Amino acid sequence: MTLSFTLVLLATAFLSIALSDAVDTSTDPATKACQLLANAFPQLVAFPGSEQYSSDIAHWAFTSTQNATCTIEPETAHDVGEILKIIGRSDIMSPFAVKSGGHAYNVGHSSTTGVQISMAKFTGLDYDPGSGTVTIGTGFLWDEVYSRLEPFGVMVNGGRVPGVGVAGLSLGGGYSWKTNQFGLGIDTIVSHSVVLPSGEQGGLNNFGIVTNITFEAHPQTLVYGGQITYASNVSNVVNAATSDFSANNKDPKAQIISSLGSASGELVAVVLFFYDGPTLPSGIFDAFFSIPFTSSDISTRTFVDLFGTFGNTTVGSGPMGNVGHVVPVTDYPVDLLNHIAEEVIVLEGRLTRANDGLPVVVAVSAEPFLNAFSHSRGGAYPHPSSRQVTPMAISVLYEINLNSTQDEQSGFHEMVVSSVKELSNLIQAEAVSLGVSRWDDILYPNYALDGTSLELMYGSNVQTLREIAAKYDPDGIMKLTGGPHF
Ligand SMILES: Cc1cc2nc3c(=O)[nH]c(=O)nc-3n(C[C@H](O)[C@H](O)[C@H](O)COP(=O)(O)OP(=O)(O)OC[C@H]3O[C@@H](n4cnc5c(N)ncnc54)[C@H](O)[C@@H]3O)c2cc1C
Repeated sequence: MTLSFTLVLLATAFLSIALSDAVDTSTDPATKACQLLANAFPQLVAFPGSEQYSSDIAHWAFTSTQNATCTIEPETAHDVGEILKIIGRSDIMSPFAVKSGGHAYNVGHSSTTGVQISMAKFTGLDYDPGSGTVTIGTGFLWDEVYSRLEPFGVMVNGGRVPGVGVAGLSLGGGYSWKTNQFGLGIDTIVSHSVVLPSGEQGGLNNFGIVTNITFEAHPQTLVYGGQITYASNVSNVVNAATSDFSANNKDPKAQIISSLGSASGELVAVVLFFYDGPTLPSGIFDAFFSIPFTSSDISTRTFVDLFGTFGNTTVGSGPMGNVGHVVPVTDYPVDLLNHIAEEVIVLEGRLTRANDGLPVVVAVSAEPFLNAFSHSRGGAYPHPSSRQVTPMAISVLYEINLNSTQDEQSGFHEMVVSSVKELSNLIQAEAVSLGVSRWDDILYPNYALDGTSLELMYGSNVQTLREIAAKYDPDGIMKLTGGPHF
């Protein structure tokens, strides 16, 4: 089994290495680790107040950002190994986190109050036309990867909107614009380079910090697509088109993300269209294109151009909070989508009032795929061809009220978390009653809310993953990171 997953930071047993540096026993583990790291890597470590520190701790959502004690940007796999040896020393055991693209929804998954490791310097990209593969450093965002690959006429299975990191997306699964054709990102991975806390470098089937990933590359032509925004008075018609596309599309080159979002009391339907070719065969998106829209930018263009127009969702002008979750469904019945539209408006109104009128966006995205799991090569995230679920993403974005106290901000965030749980539960209950979901269906770990049980994200793989954790990390060094652990 290919054991790659979002929290791939599981380590082998730490080999005690006697470091000569004296440590001040009066300080906490993170401070001790930072002192040692600053001694060993003065040019790589940063502390609060510096530009590097701010960039290393920054996350897409402000609510996923934490103030680390120090940050460090390793430059080589050897650096990563040495850093892990210091952090995991038996008299240190400092909390830490690894960040690549910083798009994790949940606080603590790639952030920490201890040592923040940023992979920003791992930006090698090597396309090998002979083997048809490309090896990519885990410091990259997909944006840069796509731009660098376009001149070669090839692409890889990566993120669908700008800003997301190579590592987190693909190690956790990776739904891409080419998933119908080639599977999840993880199904197109040929190998990883992984550094273990012992300083050893391993490959597939080991746990540690991934420094680069080799993907299959696929030929890329011009593509067709864009984004259409529809007003609320046609949302039911858009829902009917989405439902029909989900049930009847037979062309694996055609994909959409169809979102229902409410902001300022107004429901908006936004559909992203992707066709992997310069010319759209007739009939594929006709139902959507015949609906009156408020804006549309559909055209034939390069993959990079199209990807760039999909933008990155933001809300308001201040720092942004985010809570996300997912409901696994096999299909998107129109009654379900119409009911979701009603719920989304009600919830947005309630949360906006509770946020003193500052902007809140509640969005639910249908992500219909065509037999995506038939390309499965295994992995920690179970996506067997015998049960083809797709992830319906639920997301609440809000502008953080900087005039409120820390306690009030935490209180509001908790309210959003509860609301997202309730909404997800309600949607799944209806999906179950309509026969398009089961309560034991697997939740996509990259979208799942913190606290989701291991069984719901990793299913029958949990036992194997626990055994591997016990074997490779008997001292629990990797439990010093946040998020779920085996
Ligand atoms: C706007 C937006 C768009 C998205 N679009 C998609 C999409 O199209 N398809 C999809 O499948 N998902 C999508 N996601 C979800 C996304 O896959 C996850 O949020 C993912 O975790 C982001 O990866 P990252 O590298 O940016 O995140 P990070 O926050 O840097 O890391 C996420 C996780 O990976 C671990 N990690 C990071 N780097 C390494 C490393 N080098 N070695 C080992 N572990 C590491 C972290 O510790 C953390 O647990 C999207 C999310 C957002 C917010």
